[in-house]
Parts: sequence; C-alpha cells; structure tokens
Amino acid sequence: MVVKVCLDAGHYGKYNCSPANSNYYESDMVWKLHLYLKEQLEMYGINVITTRDDQKNDRELYERGLSSKGCNLFISLHSNAVGSSVNEKIDYPVSYVLLNGKSDDIGLKLAKVVEKVIGTKQPGKIANRRGNNGEYYGVLRGANAVGAPAIILEHSFHTNSEITNWLLKDGNLKKLAQAEAECIASHYGLKKIEGDSPGSDNNDKEEAKFKPYLVEVTINNLNIRTGPGTNYNTNGKYTGKGAFTIIEEAKGTGASKWGLLKSYSDRKDGWISLDYTKRI
Ligand SMILES: [Zn+2]
Repeated sequence: MVVKVCLDAGHYGKYNCSPANSNYYESDMVWKLHLYLKEQLEMYGINVITTRDDQKNDRELYERGLSSKGCNLFISLHSNAVGSSVNEKIDYPVSYVLLNGKSDDIGLKLAKVVEKVIGTKQPGKIANRRGNNGEYYGVLRGANAVGAPAIILEHSFHTNSEITNWLLKDGNLKKLAQAEAECIASHYGLKKIEGDSPGSDNNDKEEAKFKPYLVEVTINNLNIRTGPGTNYNTNGKYTGKGAFTIIEEAKGTGASKWGLLKSYSDRKDGWISLDYTKRI
C-alpha cells in the first residue's frame, strides 16, 4: 500500500505577524515547515502532495481540503494565537481533528510530538469544533467531504515569545519535520527507505563515518609503523603481494597520508604510508 499525504501550508503571503517578534509570520513558518515535512515523508516512500505551489497565492479553504481526495491523511500546518498581544503562559500544541473520530489517533500523536520537540510547558491535545454544516473549519470540512482523515496541527503559539523565537530557527523546523514524519510513518507501519536522499540531516553523520577500503602495495618493502609517520618505530615490514584493508586515515609528516591496517585494529599500531599504495 502506498501511503498518500496531503500537506497544507495554513496561510499565504505575509500573514499573522507575531506580537512577540515582528520577524515572525505564521505564513512563512508553515510554508518552510510543510516543505521540510514533505522531504522527510518522502524518505519513507510516502507520496506527498501539497495544496499550493506558490507561497504568494491563496486558495479557498474548502477547496484545499477537497484536494486531499484519495489521501490517507490531510494536515494543515499552523501556529496558534491567543488574543492579539503577547501571552507567555499559553503554549499547548493542539490538533483539531474530525468530528467522526477518524483522525483522533494520529492527531494526538502529532500534538505530543510537537510538545516533545518544542518542549512546551502545556501538554499537546486534540480538540474539534462543530459548525452549522458539520466541521467548523473549511479545510477539515473539505477533506472530510472526500473521506480523508484530516487534522489542523497548531505548532504551539506565536503569541508566546519563547515559542516564536524557537520557531524562527530553520534548524528547529527541520527537527519538527523529522519527528513528525517519523510519527506519521510509524503510524502507517513504514520504515525509512535505504540510502538517504541528499539534503537530509544525516549527511553530517555519513561524512564523519569513515568507510574502510582496500589498497594494493606498489613497492617491494613497505614499513609498518606504530603511528602515522616516519618518526614512529617500525613494527614490521610488508613484503608480499596482496591487498590491505585500511580502516582509518591520518596525516603524517609533510603532505603524506597514512592508513591504519585492519589487522592491527585492536592495538592501532600498524600504519603504512599510503603514498606507496594504490586504492583498489
Ligand atoms: Zn493559522
């Protein structure tokens, strides 16, 4: 089964400026977040569509909900406000879920993820709201009309300064996207596809992790030394032919590069100059 998710950046243009920090617009935050979340969800093989292609263009709420036809989940991303001035006490994340209960489970899970990642003082929760024609919120009414489980996910409050400043950092939005994607994927029993796509946050780790490789010795007698450099004592000699596995690299004296041999991995005292080797 291919899981399909529809993401809606809650507002367009420059909308809902925070009273706590004038650099913050809810519309900017949710636009970034929905793109990060799309990227993260796709790593699990989830098919992601968005309700708008351009941040500058608005689209009617009910229509945005309707675009989730055939989706397993519709999420409209937001940050909340209480009144129009700063309120440092209120910071609970909330998912507005469908009246029919179809999105209660994933809604609560995601509200708890937001609580945990941001570290809000108040717990994450779910709520719903009935209007004259069923669902009060247009996006939920639209999504419900096409049978998609749907939520409006409020990422705490931009009337709270601490939260606003936290949400202004792209690195934090990436953390949110990662955790939310993981939560959604596990809800549908999905695991990450092998081989991370470029741009993922795992790249740093990949680079730090050295991958062992094979070399061939190109001279007849090659000293093995106790450390990476000719200033270290010899610890043997390599005279045969064949291949070595290098498990670590280090810079020696001058511009030379040295490699640690796998057979000395426990004591780390068997190094050869890579200048006399060829990678195979
Ligand atoms: Zn909003």
